Amino acid sequence: MNKIKENIQKIQSQINRACHNTSHVSSHVSSHVSSQIPAQENKVSSNTNQNRVTLLAVSKTKPVSAIEQAYLVGQRDFGENYLQEAIEKITALSHLPDICWHFIGPIQSNKTKQIAQHFHWVHSVDRAKIAHRLNEHLNDSTQQHNCQDTPLNICLQVNISEEPSKSGIMVDEVFSLAEVVDNCDKLMLRGLMAIPEKNAGVASYEKMQHLFKKLQAQYPTVDTLSMGMSNDLEIAIAYGSTMVRIGTAIFGERS
Ligand SMILES: *Cc1c(COP(=O)(O)O)cnc(C)c1O
Repeated sequence: MNKIKENIQKIQSQINRACHNTSHVSSHVSSHVSSQIPAQENKVSSNTNQNRVTLLAVSKTKPVSAIEQAYLVGQRDFGENYLQEAIEKITALSHLPDICWHFIGPIQSNKTKQIAQHFHWVHSVDRAKIAHRLNEHLNDSTQQHNCQDTPLNICLQVNISEEPSKSGIMVDEVFSLAEVVDNCDKLMLRGLMAIPEKNAGVASYEKMQHLFKKLQAQYPTVDTLSMGMSNDLEIAIAYGSTMVRIGTAIFGERS
């Protein structure tokens, strides 16, 4: 029996149910099925609620074989936190052309070159310096990039529950950092990422939804609210998440 396949199917139906329950909330029709392709070009954009939310499989600490199993059942978006580990897996799986890699961990500025080289998305941009460095590496024509001519998709990480130990910008910094990213020619501002505090209630989710809508109103490229993990995907979707980042519920506990 293939546990990963079973888990992915279970989560997909959980997502579909959550989308259905909140379909009255999602007045905007969005298309997030293939996150690598900008929304305008997405061929499946007529699928409204069913595929409103992209499942990002968080494969950190898990082996290449687990990623391959998920790939075989149609999973294409994978999230990684630790750069060296990620690069090994990305290299091992480079024969899979349509796999899409998302960097979701904290970023040290001396790692931006390798992140720009290997990833299609970065969810954890939290300062202008990081945005500028990613953009410079992508403009350096002597460098080889995974994603050739396509821009690097960027989400700004927001520390929505204002936890001192957590990375991310404060709410009042979102629009100035958004402008920085929007002005970088090789970066595409796609949206916001957050990890609401456990037991914080709905307030953090509600604030993220509000902020996301405001950002969307200002920037037409913004279509992604990366929010929700194994334990809070339903509430995240209820508050407008378009991408859930699921590790444990797909691959099992991490040791
Ligand atoms: C590890 C991680 C996840 C996945 O968490 P699970 O609880 O295992 O689903 C999601 N997002 C980020 C930023 C992570 O670091």
